[in-house]
Amino acid sequence: MVPYNPMEKYGISVVTAAFSRRQDGNMSLCYGDTKHSLENRKTFLSSIGVDYRSLVCAKQVHGKNVRYVKEEHKGSGALIYENSIADTDGFMTDKKGVPIAILTADCLSIFIYDPKRPAVVILHAGWRSTEKNIAAEGVRMLQEKFGSSPQRLFIGFGPSIRSCCFEVEKDFRSNFPFGITTREGRNFMDISLMNKQQLINCGVKEKNIFDPGICTFSDNQDYFSFRKEADSSGRLISVIMLK
Ligand SMILES: [Zn+2]
Repeated sequence: MVPYNPMEKYGISVVTAAFSRRQDGNMSLCYGDTKHSLENRKTFLSSIGVDYRSLVCAKQVHGKNVRYVKEEHKGSGALIYENSIADTDGFMTDKKGVPIAILTADCLSIFIYDPKRPAVVILHAGWRSTEKNIAAEGVRMLQEKFGSSPQRLFIGFGPSIRSCCFEVEKDFRSNFPFGITTREGRNFMDISLMNKQQLINCGVKEKNIFDPGICTFSDNQDYFSFRKEADSSGRLISVIMLK
């Protein structure tokens, strides 16, 4: 099975990007059945030319901290969860050969490429990080550190639970000015739409945001869903690297 590359349509030759599917196995070293996780990572990542031992992973906390990483961070959380970079929900790098990764089951992963520096960013956007606008934080860091222009960024989305399935409490309406729809008195959240709008608000061009439209809950046979599987759920990996 060819790994899904959400940046493919842009024809960028200097970036490796992909997310895994259920068939690739659990990629988490701490959630779900972790017995084969390292082997799963090795198999999946080698198929896209990434050394699983170089992976940079986070102890994700549904916040909005995005860390700049470079060669010295290679391997953080690659083999042992405890070595992952703490209190982090996104990475940015301008170094070649530093694969940055996010693990998800329902949350949205966001891939960003800045052709100018060049640089790449990966973000973990669940509803809490979406509320904190982690998408804007990723763009802001690119602007601050590398002088990137949002108009020139290319964005790809991973799979996530979508408004067809993501029921939320009524009070979400007051926290989110858009992206909540009501059906038969029940509220549903559209995480991908919200992040898309947040990126557009930063100056990113709509045509430079690719959303494959995959729902992890509806397409549970191919993707992990925490909402559907609870604690037994594995995690898929989203990874991006400058070649
Ligand atoms: Zn769905």
